[in-house]
Amino acid sequence: MSHTLPSLPYSFDALEPHIDAKTMEIHHDKHHAAYVTNLNKALEGNAELQKLTVEELLTQINKVPDNIRTAVRNNGGGHMNHSMFWKIMKKGGGGEPSGDVGDAIKTAFGTFAEFKTKFNQAATTRFGSGWAWLLVRDGKVVVESTPNQDNPIMDGGKAFFGLDVWEHAYYLKYQNRRPEYIEAWWNVINWSQVAENYAHAKK
Ligand code: MN
Repeated sequence: MSHTLPSLPYSFDALEPHIDAKTMEIHHDKHHAAYVTNLNKALEGNAELQKLTVEELLTQINKVPDNIRTAVRNNGGGHMNHSMFWKIMKKGGGGEPSGDVGDAIKTAFGTFAEFKTKFNQAATTRFGSGWAWLLVRDGKVVVESTPNQDNPIMDGGKAFFGLDVWEHAYYLKYQNRRPEYIEAWWNVINWSQVAENYAHAKK
């Protein structure tokens, strides 16, 4: 199958003023689109791998042939990461989660504030390009970060929440001020989508 760019579930300016419209347009229409194009290009001629979903490809990234493994890792990761990222944001989001996911966070970190501190630290200290994640690993809810477009699924984790800290995600509005971008981002979280992701991740 051919991988396709999902539509943004809101307009480019929906997340203003926290995330600006121009950043959203370039991020979705150029960066994410390029990951999809390059993933499809890497899989050209490999009928077996073309049958797999991006999740399946990344789960078994070490079985992907050497000559395309890096391209699949980077572009497949980019496709999967951004597909989740758009959905966990919305206009008028933010606040604190309730229900199962809220309880899971409190069980793992004590309080939502403690979780936020730990997540922000992971996002701030990730050197260069990468992502901060909230995920289920070995049955526990934990915070991790990954370089580049890696996703925890590549080594057995199931992410249900994640933040893009590549400069392309914030540089137009925040320049080098990554912590300001991170703080603003909490105002656009779509917690009901995160809850849905968590329900799948904990299975
Ligand atoms: Mn990105």
